[in-house]
Amino acid sequence: MTSARPNYDAAAIEAERQAAWDREDAFATRLPDDGGAGAYIKPSSPFTSGKLHMGHVRDYSLGDAYARFRRARGDAVLFGFGFDAFGLPAEMAAIERKVPPADWVERCGERMLTQMKRLGFSFDYERVFYSSDEAQYRWSQWLFLQLLEAGLIYRDDATVDWCDHCRTTLAALQVEDGRCWRCHNEVRLIRRPTWFLRIAPYLEENDRGLAALEEGGAWDEISLSTQRYILGRSDGVEVDVADVDGTTLTVFSPHADSLGAATFVMLSPRHPDVEAWAGDAAVAEQLDELRSGGWERSARDAAAVPLVDTGLAAKAEFAGGALPVLVSPLVDARYGPTAVLGIPSADEADAKVAARVPRLAGAEAAEDAGAKADVRPAVRYKAADFSISRQRFWGTPIPIVLCESCGPVPVPEEDLPVVLPRDVEPTGEGNPLAEMPEFVEVACPRCGEPARRETDTLDCHFDALWLWVPSAVPPHARDAEMFSHPELRTWLPSERLVAGSDSGGFVFDQRVVTKALRDIGPFAFMEEGEPFSGCLFHEMVIADGRKMSKHLGNVVDPDELVERYGADTIRIAILYAAGPAKTLNWNDGALRFASRFLHNLWEYTRSRRELAAKAPIDPEAAADTEFMRDRLCKWCDNGLARITADLEELQMHKAIRNVTRLLERIQDFEKRVVKRRGGLSRVDAEALIAALELLARVLAPFAPHIAEALLLADEGDAGSEAVDLGSWPERLDLGAAASGAGSR
Ligand SMILES: [Zn+2]
Ligand SMILES: [Zn+2]
Repeated sequence: MTSARPNYDAAAIEAERQAAWDREDAFATRLPDDGGAGAYIKPSSPFTSGKLHMGHVRDYSLGDAYARFRRARGDAVLFGFGFDAFGLPAEMAAIERKVPPADWVERCGERMLTQMKRLGFSFDYERVFYSSDEAQYRWSQWLFLQLLEAGLIYRDDATVDWCDHCRTTLAALQVEDGRCWRCHNEVRLIRRPTWFLRIAPYLEENDRGLAALEEGGAWDEISLSTQRYILGRSDGVEVDVADVDGTTLTVFSPHADSLGAATFVMLSPRHPDVEAWAGDAAVAEQLDELRSGGWERSARDAAAVPLVDTGLAAKAEFAGGALPVLVSPLVDARYGPTAVLGIPSADEADAKVAARVPRLAGAEAAEDAGAKADVRPAVRYKAADFSISRQRFWGTPIPIVLCESCGPVPVPEEDLPVVLPRDVEPTGEGNPLAEMPEFVEVACPRCGEPARRETDTLDCHFDALWLWVPSAVPPHARDAEMFSHPELRTWLPSERLVAGSDSGGFVFDQRVVTKALRDIGPFAFMEEGEPFSGCLFHEMVIADGRKMSKHLGNVVDPDELVERYGADTIRIAILYAAGPAKTLNWNDGALRFASRFLHNLWEYTRSRRELAAKAPIDPEAAADTEFMRDRLCKWCDNGLARITADLEELQMHKAIRNVTRLLERIQDFEKRVVKRRGGLSRVDAEALIAALELLARVLAPFAPHIAEALLLADEGDAGSEAVDLGSWPERLDLGAAASGAGSR
């Protein structure tokens, strides 16, 4: 019996396939048979923002096609993710709606999961988690304690925006034109103690690792270049000058050939020895102002960046004597928290700086200073430590108790988690945690005296440091074995990260933390300290040449598209419209193309199947067209090889083009046979059907619903679950019957 469905009915087909996947638990993670490595394909971790946008659809369509392809090839695949559920956007959305952020996040997550299932994404939904779950952030706190003990987390003053009216610090996102997002009063900068992540010890290794990743060939060019950009490597030399006390100050320059032409020395305000250059009270005050000022925004512009002349000089024989010492965050913006030589004749930015310092007016580079200096090759990195704590409610509580006599004391591991109250509705005023005595008041774990809990919470960037780990651990084992479960060795490092090109910062810091956890112990099995052996970054989806926004009225809603065209059409359209490295300017052209292709394929396959059943058995005709079937085999095998190679490289737009070409070839075979013989004999019709079946199999990673429905119909029963839908074809096999002239 053939299915009675006359036309391509995406809604019915997709509902039926999704129900079958659910029944069969089709996407449950299966371990490799031989105990070897599995392929962990890691998509973006979505913010619980409310609903999926087209960027998500692009991300997950890419990852899903790859995951389905790898499963079809017989690989054990883990395709899982968790929600990045803490953070300011969720807190602000909850404030706006006057609900606890916990409720808002849960509602958003459920809705997004429904959308994902409707789009047919083959995640292991059992492994989905929220970073805001107690069982989850307990491990963020554990990680904090591990890094603290390893000396990779420290507390220091940082400059933050403060609103006097709302009595709260503000994130950059909450300051609009120097005013508070909530009350619109002016904000001011204050200094307060903040927790920092120290990344400097791993910068060099992150740099070295890039060469190996590039050689491995599974990191695409965008992902590599974002890593290089964030690292900000400068090659040059370093040399010693004598500081105020006559002790050594090492200075860097990228201009190895021009050291003798140096006219000043410049220090970062974060240089460890900067205090020694504070000089008199007026300079000390300027320095202090510089260090607490909001200089980030102008730090890259040499003509405007804040600049302090210490009035002091450093001894440098190689440059003819004494070099005035300046302090400026321009150093940080170019080379990190170091000290550099200013060489106006070799460096445009240095020339702009020199022009602003009266003491340097008319300063000439020493002529042939001549003195030999001990010059060593050196490297500097722009990437630097960053703050990880926020004065916000909706985040992982920092497991620290502040004691008057002991200082900051870590909460003992057995007392984790420090629980974040869930039924709180923040208003945006003050920090709700600081006003809850039941949260704040606690005995010091060290001396037992009354003390206060740290009320800052961790920025969600900190949660993200290990957000790629939990999927690799079965949910029931996460409480006890999050960082020690044997499955970690099966799935890590992740075979492929598929994420937006704006994820470079996350990935960089995830690479740092993997190395730290390797050295601390839990990740010792990842010798390279790299969390991802492969990485594909894709660009964003825009519309009408502009970023999608409610304000512009150009937001494309995935739900509406699915409703109208079906999930398979959307998936094909978004994958086909542009290669991952290109920004995708959404338009109806790709949709029309995808819709037309799937409709044609459906009609053509079904009509030819009916025809094949009736085609006459004709040995003479079969012998006459054997060379055509041979050619069909060659076409199919070539197409298959190309599509396979495209999929291996996640170049899904090329793969889909090759799928459509394959259909053209198959149709061309029919035309030629008909032209020669006036119709299809049974053998030719069966060859045609076999080729169409191969086509359905290679289409399955991109449009899984229609592909499976076509394969099932091929078996004569649309409801059957017995057909093997999964396996990737090796070649077009027409069997012995189709090749022998006299066999039919
Ligand atoms: Zn305010
Ligand atoms: Zn104490």
